Amino acid sequence: MVVEETMAKELTPLSSASTDEEIDRRVQQTAQSTTHPAGTAAMGSVVDADLKVIGVEGLRVCDASIFPEPVAANPMVAHYAITEQTAELID
Ligand SMILES: Cc1cc2nc3c(=O)[nH]c(=O)nc-3n(C[C@H](O)[C@H](O)[C@H](O)COP(=O)(O)OP(=O)(O)OC[C@H]3O[C@@H](n4cnc5c(N)ncnc54)[C@H](O)[C@@H]3O)c2cc1C
Repeated sequence: MVVEETMAKELTPLSSASTDEEIDRRVQQTAQSTTHPAGTAAMGSVVDADLKVIGVEGLRVCDASIFPEPVAANPMVAHYAITEQTAELID
């Protein structure tokens, strides 16, 4: 069992006794998208199911930004699928 983590000095170590608030604060302090940013133009809110930007004429988005949910794997394969699907939509 992990009793307590070892952290940089400026952060308070989390443990099994940490509260939800302490865990939320840690996420706010340290979470980052690193190399897989996605979902900033999510399908259902920014683009529709045909990848057209809602409220804008003649504009589609075809990149990882349209992911409606984070993928639980590396994103590239899902991105290839979106690209193929978009080519068929435009065809
Ligand atoms: C270091 C690193 C390693 C990764 N490793 C993996 C991996 O092993 N497996 C995996 O599945 N995924 C990996 N990824 C993630 C994957 O590369 C991205 O999720 C994917 O490339 C996203 O595709 P995208 O088309 O949304 O964006 P991008 O591939 O970033 O494409 C955006 C394109 O838009 C162009 N662009 C930007 N601004 C403008 C502008 N104003 N006008 C015209 N063009 C513009 C850019 O030049 C770029 O060509 C990695 C990413 C990084 C950074």
